[in-house]
Amino acid sequence: VDPKVQEDMNQFQETFKGIKDRFRLINRIGEGTFSTVYKAEDLLYEHYDNDWDIEEKENKWTSPPLKKRRMGMQALMDMNEYGMQRRRPKYVAIKKIYVTSSPSRILNELDLLNDLRGYDSVCPLITAFRHTDQVVAVLPYFKHTDFREYFRNMIVDDMRIYFRSLFRALAAVHSKGIIHRDIKPTNFLYEPDKKRGVLVDFGLAERQGLDAKPCICTESADHRRRRVANSVTANMGPSNGYPKNDSRPSRRANRAGTRGFRAPEVLLKCTDQTTKIDIWSAGVILLTILSKRFPFFNSADDVEAMIEIATIFGIKRMKATGYLHGVMFETNIPTIGNAGFTLEKIILWSTCRNDSGKDGKEVPLTDEEKSAVRFLERCFELDPNKRISAEEALEHEFLREDVY
Ligand code: ADP
Ligand code: MG
Repeated sequence: VDPKVQEDMNQFQETFKGIKDRFRLINRIGEGTFSTVYKAEDLLYEHYDNDWDIEEKENKWTSPPLKKRRMGMQALMDMNEYGMQRRRPKYVAIKKIYVTSSPSRILNELDLLNDLRGYDSVCPLITAFRHTDQVVAVLPYFKHTDFREYFRNMIVDDMRIYFRSLFRALAAVHSKGIIHRDIKPTNFLYEPDKKRGVLVDFGLAERQGLDAKPCICTESADHRRRRVANSVTANMGPSNGYPKNDSRPSRRANRAGTRGFRAPEVLLKCTDQTTKIDIWSAGVILLTILSKRFPFFNSADDVEAMIEIATIFGIKRMKATGYLHGVMFETNIPTIGNAGFTLEKIILWSTCRNDSGKDGKEVPLTDEEKSAVRFLERCFELDPNKRISAEEALEHEFLREDVY
């Protein structure tokens, strides 16, 4: 272990009262914007089958069980019923959520994880502890390989297995009306040898509005077109760049997520976002694998991200997408054409298989790759209402078990 990491772990063990009695920290395995994650050995793992668990269940949320109190820890959550039936894992991931996160955010993450217990494809929450302002979540440790080590070597069959696993997880999460909001390779812990992955990190997840129907506006298309055309931007005419002293009322919507993975409706600040935003992000992962380029999209901000998307899909479809969300899409960037490019072209070009590649001959996509591209097109429907759902995805020719 790196001495700096060891020092960090020592400090954590000293300051989080009681943690040493239960866990032995092994290494630091993740350090993100919102948390630090450690791999640890659960020293009490052999004693799980006794009544201790039941006692704790009775005391959920309110008074922590005596044993825990003696350990100086406060149980925030009850035991995982799932975990009581099975033997608990010896190795765990301890997610130390940064104290700068708001209590409601932390509660949201734990609450959603608690709701998702019992799905194989979602990393279950074992328990959570609080000491003063520090909250830690304890999860089973999942062995996984860094995406960057394997994505370039994946053949279509590997993609099928990867995405079957990912879309099973998404179907589970979405069936609960939960939007993950941060689908990307580092939040899907995948082990190529085991052909299985689990979804982690519900730090940005939220419940979908009960009757969220993105942007099926009640006004008629005609009325909408007229309203948008009469808007301030339309009157100002296409300006160079984007307006500096924009006097239009700003739109507010949840934009949480990771750059490069945000769906167009998130970039356009649609206020009625749905689980379909996760499907878009999963599509970005597939495009990354097919194009062998990571990160595929590399924008610094939302406007640049729109430019990247518009370069592929073209002005015509972007305008239609804008209308859908009540905004006007205008651009005078010369590289954005009216028709855009097919995903097939983008992939051939990214992998140097088009006619400007090595031998000046195009190496066309195989039938299998074409099937993957057809699936990708369904994930990249600009209109979230038309975009494929996770449930439907599992029935798509690309993912269906019986086809190949
Ligand atoms: P953050 O909100 O900081 O992104 P995550 O929950 O995504 O936190 O965890 C950060 C990283 O820690 C992950 O990308 C992964 O590498 C590692 N990690 C998280 N949970 C586990 C787990 N259960 N098993 C193994 N590694 C994990
Ligand atoms: Mg993460």
